[in-house]
Amino acid sequence: MIQLPEDLLPVDGRFGSGPAKVRPEALEYLSLRGDIMGTSHRQAPVRNLVASVQESLAELYSIPDGYEVVLGNGGSTVFWDVAVSSLIERRSAHGVFGEFSRKFYAAAARAPHLENPAISEAPAGSVALPEPTDADVYAWAQNETSTGAAAPVRRIGDGLVLVDATSAAGGMPADISATDVYYFAPQKNFSSDGGLWLAFLSPAAVERAESIKASGRWIPESLDLTVAIRNSRQHQTLNTPALATLLLLEDQLGWMLELGGLSVVADRCAESTTILYDWAEGSEFATPFVANPAERSPVVATIDLADEVDGKQLIAELRANGIVDVDPYRALGRNQLRVGCYASVDPEDVVALTECVDYLVARMIG
Ligand SMILES: *Cc1c(COP(=O)(O)O)cnc(C)c1O
Repeated sequence: MIQLPEDLLPVDGRFGSGPAKVRPEALEYLSLRGDIMGTSHRQAPVRNLVASVQESLAELYSIPDGYEVVLGNGGSTVFWDVAVSSLIERRSAHGVFGEFSRKFYAAAARAPHLENPAISEAPAGSVALPEPTDADVYAWAQNETSTGAAAPVRRIGDGLVLVDATSAAGGMPADISATDVYYFAPQKNFSSDGGLWLAFLSPAAVERAESIKASGRWIPESLDLTVAIRNSRQHQTLNTPALATLLLLEDQLGWMLELGGLSVVADRCAESTTILYDWAEGSEFATPFVANPAERSPVVATIDLADEVDGKQLIAELRANGIVDVDPYRALGRNQLRVGCYASVDPEDVVALTECVDYLVARMIG
């Protein structure tokens, strides 16, 4: 093992792309609110907590009048199944440019009650939006966490627009009125734990869920969006939520709003990723993976390494020094670093990361 000098190390070595760094202050808040743990989610204290999360999210994204903040258990992966059950009427169209956008496409393709989905594909490291067609749902990811490519958020065609914002929400701006469903989970920019999905729903999305339900389609209760909507209006979930997840999320939202809201938080993320892209552009052994600067994610930076640098060894050396989770997405299989630069990550720690990598590589290829 190569020992990194103490003064080079970041204050916090967590750079995961999800789950991601939890602020120590949020953990302190969690212990302060210990009295609420183990109490009923049907009673006022927990319902007030859910309501506070819903209000803060609505404020952070200035969601349009008539939109609702809906939540349920199971994370973004389960939300894909909710969408297959409760939002796609006949056919969806997908922009696929990485593993996460592909998973939603695959979930829709497997559903026996739906027609084959349309697909627009781009190779990893670039971006593809769905083409306008006869689809009633258009779906893609704002930030493809597996590749570090970011896509625009805008209307396409006549269908509902469903944006997977799992790793974008809380770190990237978006015009929510250009979407019908902007959904995410709290373990990325929101620095909480996994297991929950949250979504901003337009009136058209609510209407779609209700009309599919009224058509008599069989929908498992836990995947029925109308059930989640009804519960969310009561600041509840269908079944028991993880209260610690909600408490960590509440604290993070309060911190974000106090900092100055979404634009300030988004600037902080972009500052961190820009540090990495600029460093890689100037490096002899590193290059930004996403070729088009306009498509480079402001929240998850992917950096290719030259062949002479053994990425696996570099990542192991970093880990031995307390700098963790900069591994590339496993299915991508590249000689690469992938760095989560979410809201909680201090840009100064990102500078320290680049210095640590330079230090290690100089000694590895010496
Ligand atoms: C992390 C991630 C998911 C999966 O989230 P889970 O809550 O683990 O299901 C889906 N989409 C994107 C873009 C992600 O980054």
